[in-house]
Amino acid sequence: MAAPNIETIVSLAKRRGFVFPSSEIYGGLGSAWDYGPLGVELCNNVKQAWWRWMVHERDDMEGIDSSIILNRSVWKYSGHEETFSDPLIDCKECNSRFRADKLAEEVGEPVSGFDFIKIKCPSCGKTNWTEPRAFNLMFRTTIGAAAEEDDPTALAYLRPETAQGIFINFLNVQTTMRRKIPFGIAQIGKSFRNEVTPGNFIFRTREFEQMEMEYFVRPGEDERVHQEWIDYCFDWFKTLGVSSENLRFYEQPAEELAHYAKRTVDIHYRFFPEREDEERQWDELMGIANRTDFDLKAHSKKPEDAEGKRINPDSTEDLSYFDEATKERFYPYVIEPAAGVNRTVLAVLMDAYSEQVNDKGEKRVILKLHPELAPIKVAVLPLAKNKPEIVGLARSIKKSLQPSMRAVYDDTGGIGKLYARQDEIGTPFCVTVDHQSLEDEAVTVRDRDTWEQERVKVAELAEHLKQRLGIKF
Ligand code: ATP
Repeated sequence: MAAPNIETIVSLAKRRGFVFPSSEIYGGLGSAWDYGPLGVELCNNVKQAWWRWMVHERDDMEGIDSSIILNRSVWKYSGHEETFSDPLIDCKECNSRFRADKLAEEVGEPVSGFDFIKIKCPSCGKTNWTEPRAFNLMFRTTIGAAAEEDDPTALAYLRPETAQGIFINFLNVQTTMRRKIPFGIAQIGKSFRNEVTPGNFIFRTREFEQMEMEYFVRPGEDERVHQEWIDYCFDWFKTLGVSSENLRFYEQPAEELAHYAKRTVDIHYRFFPEREDEERQWDELMGIANRTDFDLKAHSKKPEDAEGKRINPDSTEDLSYFDEATKERFYPYVIEPAAGVNRTVLAVLMDAYSEQVNDKGEKRVILKLHPELAPIKVAVLPLAKNKPEIVGLARSIKKSLQPSMRAVYDDTGGIGKLYARQDEIGTPFCVTVDHQSLEDEAVTVRDRDTWEQERVKVAELAEHLKQRLGIKF
């Protein structure tokens, strides 16, 4: 079972401290969200799982953390200043603003070449539109204390993707780490896009976090390696416990491809299961693009154009690669798997959501999160909170577990309520300490998914839990 819709997750997330509407006491800030105590743990666990899988467990990977604000030339030569825009239309009747391509998609018109004149405004039902116009999605800012707001020499952007920070560091990483291609550079960080129509909770926001990797290969090997990454990434979501029924590949048709891409395959998740039209239930979780040699060439002081003029007069470096073995110099092709932290969090929350009826006939929500992602791994619960020996033992057990796993202590309700609370936030195990524990030095370990209970010696508890949680050290 998975969540029936995003709304179910929005209310669970707010009720249980995963995600709150941002700036709520001032009326909020359109589609901005703050991650609460459980949300920040979940995000961190997603990022750690990605980093371990992408960087630590491979032999051909390095990581970096580049600046959010880069030299403006980066965005000039990457093409973002010119082309990173969405088509915008306004309803002349009610002044509502929409992304023309998304609107067309929603009403089932072809994305390109659609006749928007026929489309009714979703807000007022009229058909009186402005002409579509390009709206650049990059957030602008200015650098320096003396800068005037419209001073073009001080203009800078908040990065709309982390990828460019990798391209401009390609040679730094390759030479300092003495890497030979094929190898990759991974980065996790915030990106910013002034989205025309953000929404659907954390699915589309103006500030979000990306997990991107650029894999540098010899031209000619790009198509094979691209396909390998497509399959490898799909499997990663499955290892996180996401059901393959809710995942699919989406081959981008030629008219959707970005200007730099030779081929792009997206991994879709069924974010909108409540929609009647099956096709509209899916949306992008991750994109895996073959970016060719576009970016490394674009940032290089070479190549020259037909008249011998340098195409990029601002760069001081040539980002080509010299192959020692074959004595060839060339621009590597780049395969880019790019995923959103927030969309991954939304997908794993939706997929983990389940409801179960207990023996009293009450409906319980259980979040069957993969143990690696669960914000809290174990809750230690005393059965009698006014018995100092039991409370003392429970607290000391919690303390002994906390160096190796996120553990909490809770005595603020009856045991049924405490179990229900932990089930709802996805805690894989509860440990209860009772009168018997004082005599046999054992506790009860309860499994979130089966509700089965097992008696375990306190001395063996940490090892027992580590093994069941899959914690390797
Ligand atoms: P979309 O078509 O949904 O706008 P995109 O194709 O522009 O997304 P990419 O540029 O491929 O997205 O970015 C890679 C990943 O970053 C996406 O698959 C998604 O998970 C995440 N992402 C992109 N834009 C946003 C956003 N506004 N809010 C949250 N996550 C985002």
